[in-house]
Amino acid sequence: MTTTVAVFGSCNMDLVAYVGTAPKRGETVLGREFHTVPGGKGANQALAAAKAGAAVRMIGAVGEDDFGAEIRAVLQKSGVDVRGLRTVPGRSGTAHIVVDDEGGNSIVVVPAANAALDALADGDEDLIAGADSLLLQLENPFSGVAAAAAAGRRNGVRVVLTPAPAAPLSADLLSKVDLLVPNEHEAAVLAGAEDPHRALAALLELVPEVVITLGARGSLYGDRTGTWVEVPSFPVDAVDTTAAGDTFVGVLATALGEGAEVPEAMRLASAGAAVSVQRAGASSSMPTRAEISALLA
Ligand code: ADP
Repeated sequence: MTTTVAVFGSCNMDLVAYVGTAPKRGETVLGREFHTVPGGKGANQALAAAKAGAAVRMIGAVGEDDFGAEIRAVLQKSGVDVRGLRTVPGRSGTAHIVVDDEGGNSIVVVPAANAALDALADGDEDLIAGADSLLLQLENPFSGVAAAAAAGRRNGVRVVLTPAPAAPLSADLLSKVDLLVPNEHEAAVLAGAEDPHRALAALLELVPEVVITLGARGSLYGDRTGTWVEVPSFPVDAVDTTAAGDTFVGVLATALGEGAEVPEAMRLASAGAAVSVQRAGASSSMPTRAEISALLA
C-alpha cells in the first residue's frame, strides 16, 4: 500500500565545502572540494520519503533565483508533488556547510525564501488533509509550522516534528504533535536532560511518541504505553552525515504509513540513514527502497 506523506518545510541550496579539519574562529583553511546540492530539512525529508516509496506533497517556498528552479526540478524529478511549493520574490534559502574528513559537519542556514512560509496558503490544507502523515521541522517561521500542525491535527493526519534547529516549543504546538524525532542534542535542549533515556521520559510528558536519534549509536523509541525500542545503527564508514536525520525521518514516516510496526520501521529508517551517510550531499545521498532493502537482506 502506497502511503501519502505531506511535508511542510524548508528548501535550501546546500553550498558544501569539504575540508580536512573545520576552521576555528579567525582561521582560514583550504578546502578539497566544493559542490552545490539541493537540501533543507523539508526538501530532504520529502526526497527521502519519495525515494523510499511514498507519494509525497511538498509545501514550501523557494526564491526567484536559479537555486529555486533547481530545487523545484530535483523534487519533481523524484516524483514529489510540488503544487504547494511557491516561488517568492528574492533569494532561495542557502545552507553553508563544512564537512570534515571524519564526516562531521557544521552548518549556517540563511532562510531567505523560507521566511515566507509563515502561514498556510490556499490549497495547503487540502494537500495536508489527503496525507497519512505530515512532516514538520523548525527552519520556517513558527507561525507557519503551528498552522500546518493544526491542519494536520484537524484532519486526523499523523503529525511528525523534527525539532531542528533546536528551539523552545510552545505547549500549543506540542499538543498537535503525534511523534517527535529530535537528535541527541535537540532532545537534551528540549528535555533539559543529557541522558537520552531520561530525555525520552521527559519528552513523553509533552507528546505521545518520541524517537531520539543518537548518530552512530542508533536510535531510541518510546511511547506513553511504556513501549521502548532501541535500534543500533548499521556499522558503515560515514563520509558525510548531512541529512542522516532527515533520511531517517522520511523513511520512518513512509514505513509507519505503510503499516510497519515501530521496530521494523526504525530498522528501515536506520538502514536508509546508513546508506545516506556513506554518500556526499543531502538530496544526492538519499537511498531508494531497493538500496534500503539490500542493506537489510
Ligand atoms: P541528525 O542528522 O539529525 O543529527 P543523527 O546524527 O542522530 O541525526 O543520525 C540519524 C540516524 O542516522 C541515526 O539514528 C543512525 O540510524 C543514522 N546514522 C547517523 N550517523 C551514522 C553513522 N556514522 N553510521 C551509521 N548510521 C548513522
